[in-house]
Amino acid sequence: MSAARIIKPPPMSGGDRKHFAREIHKAEVTFANLVEQSAQAHAVADAARAKAYALDCAAWNTALFIGELDHASSTIAAAIAGGFPLLEVRCEHCKHTEIIDLALVVQPRDRQVSLMRDYLYCGPCQRTLRKKRRPDLIGLHPTGAPQPEAPSRRPKKAS
Ligand SMILES: [Zn+2]
Repeated sequence: MSAARIIKPPPMSGGDRKHFAREIHKAEVTFANLVEQSAQAHAVADAARAKAYALDCAAWNTALFIGELDHASSTIAAAIAGGFPLLEVRCEHCKHTEIIDLALVVQPRDRQVSLMRDYLYCGPCQRTLRKKRRPDLIGLHPTGAPQPEAPSRRPKKAS
């Protein structure tokens, strides 16, 4: 005669506990894989988006050069994300050229770069002639790009 083996059913048998532990472990591995795959997919998507933003900036530069002034420019945020955060402007009156770092500009990030012109005026013209002259937008440049026109052409006129 055998005694009753089960008086009170345990929540899980030893085999069930092992099975459950295996399932949890599998789910943990799956979770880690999904997190890693997601991060990789986002990195690929971010890189593709940054490339698209960079192409937008290059296209706008070319549009400015050929006089297609109706071509939509990037937003400040997109220019920065695309790696073209430097806006070159030039005053046609005094030929002063300046590079503006869009990352430092106090403007809404969803504002088109082309609208920046309405918020800029030439410093030298303002100082020497007391006139507010809007500079022309020349184009967007990547960080660390050579800026051959920037310092040498600045007229040195102290008032
Ligand atoms: Zn000027």
